Amino acid sequence: RAKSAGGNRFELADAEADARAITRHGLTTALPAALERGEFFIEYQPIVRLDDGSVRGAEALVRWLHPQHGVLGPDRFIPLAEHTGLIVPLGRWVLEQSVRQARAWRERFAQPRPLRINVNLSPVQLSHPGLVQDTVEILEREGVGPEALCLEVTESALIGADDDLLKPLRQLSEMGVDIALDDFGTGYSNLANLRRLPLNILKLDRSFTQGMQQFPADPVDLKIVEGIVTMAHSLDLAVTVEGVETSAQADQLRILGCDTAQGWYYARPGPPERLHELALADAGG
Ligand code: C2E
Ligand code: MG
Ligand code: MG
Ligand code: MG
Repeated sequence: RAKSAGGNRFELADAEADARAITRHGLTTALPAALERGEFFIEYQPIVRLDDGSVRGAEALVRWLHPQHGVLGPDRFIPLAEHTGLIVPLGRWVLEQSVRQARAWRERFAQPRPLRINVNLSPVQLSHPGLVQDTVEILEREGVGPEALCLEVTESALIGADDDLLKPLRQLSEMGVDIALDDFGTGYSNLANLRRLPLNILKLDRSFTQGMQQFPADPVDLKIVEGIVTMAHSLDLAVTVEGVETSAQADQLRILGCDTAQGWYYARPGPPERLHELALADAGG
């Protein structure tokens, strides 16, 4: 039966699987040298306030400019870096670059509404004992206050987290760093579970926004998001929505009370100068 369905397809699938495994192995072994040679770079995606459209800050998203494969997204190499532990120095590099960028933005776009930088944190970094000290050192060295930084941790990283894992997050939070729960809605946690976590921001996963491309969206989808927003606000959490691609989504999410948004509708991730244009546009200049 397999033959009549096209025996070659199985061979092709095997060949593809082999190629993927080889690439994965090749990428894994190339990671340390790539970090030393400066092959990683960061794109920034603006985060916008839904009420007045002003720029709240940006999320730092790492990329790898691979000499043979071109630009690789984080989904291709972060899991490999987590597996080998390289995520610790790589994550520290991302944090340092991002904080430096935040300082540059803050010098350029002064108070009273300073920009904040969001940096993703892997669960492997969370369980690494140097995290708090590295973060403090980077902020001090760059002369940036903790309120300029938001660390994003995914829901799945915190599911069933014990106190040892939460302790560094609590320390960072007490210092004044904001903590965001990334990709909320993709895991299994319920809002009651969140009470024991030191969180300031809930980032609603893109799967929620996807249902709102039509205006009006499915009433059940609207009710679900409305409920999440109400509960988040009652727990003193601000709500950021991911993956806003259309004005219909932006309008409905604003009406539902979401605070900030991020997505291609506003800007794709890009070089830091892109944010200068947006921030200058809201300053009216
Ligand atoms: P994330 O933190 O949830 O980041 C949002 C992802 O959604 C980014 O993908 C972004 O490019 C994409 N995105 C933003 N707006 C839209 C939109 O309107 N539509 C669609 N379809 N997608 C949108 P990206 O850059 O590929 O990053 C994927 C994930 O890799 C991130 O998900 C984050 O979990 C992880 N990541 C990125 N940078 C780092 C890092 O420095 N360290 C760690 N540990 N993880 C990182
Ligand atoms: Mg994120
Ligand atoms: Mg996210
Ligand atoms: Mg995501």
